[in-house]
Amino acid sequence: MELKVCWMYHDIMDLYGDKGNILTLKKRCMDRNIDFQLSTCGIGQSADLSDFDLVFLGGGADKEQMSLIPDLLSRKENIQKALDSHTFFLLICGGYQLFGQYYIAADGSKMEGLGFNSYYTDTGKAGSRCIGNIIIDANLDGLQTKIVGFENHGGQTLHVDHPLGKVCKGYGNAFDAGLEGYYDGRMLGTYLHGPLLPKNPLVADFVITKALKKRNPDFTMEQLPHLENPFDQAARKALFDRFEIKE
Ligand code: GLN
Repeated sequence: MELKVCWMYHDIMDLYGDKGNILTLKKRCMDRNIDFQLSTCGIGQSADLSDFDLVFLGGGADKEQMSLIPDLLSRKENIQKALDSHTFFLLICGGYQLFGQYYIAADGSKMEGLGFNSYYTDTGKAGSRCIGNIIIDANLDGLQTKIVGFENHGGQTLHVDHPLGKVCKGYGNAFDAGLEGYYDGRMLGTYLHGPLLPKNPLVADFVITKALKKRNPDFTMEQLPHLENPFDQAARKALFDRFEIKE
């Protein structure tokens, strides 16, 4: 079995260790003899995203987001084709914002988003950012799990019709939102860096499963052999203990 991944804008969208998400996917695939094939796609590079099982887009500063907008918008039709052919999308922070209607940056400039989802993002008062550790209670196709991470965003994402989960600690989509991220079965967008997947192995396996399903529709998460790793469990436990939240 193989997993074909495209990491979009790998050279500019990689905040707070987002690259660790790719390393985690690779390791969890290799340990199970799944052939992990990674491609990258930068500004101006040609790629048919529908060829991939998974597309990953990390977070970035406003300047980087601004620089990739024309290229990203030029791929809109191809991204639609990928979504229609069951390529799964994992989007972190700045990447998540750009799949909505628009993003208004800290300096007030407005960037048009891909518009695949009805949410939009507006930066609040200058200097006020949602920063810190975050724990959410998420629902992944009926699988209830607590996800831990780190958030740092000025953008306030509103009108999210399919949130990923409820905030237990931290901010999430906006100050006082109470809800975090976006998940609709085809794409998972979240403000959680940290990076996300090393601290949340179950989410990593969920993403691998969603991606494998593109070419193996009957594949289920139970078919992935269990991997024992005391370090990811210890990282999770440290956060749950610190915030006195039950895992
Ligand atoms: N520049 C965006 C914001 O500040 C995204 C930041 C990020 O990806 N961490 O909201």
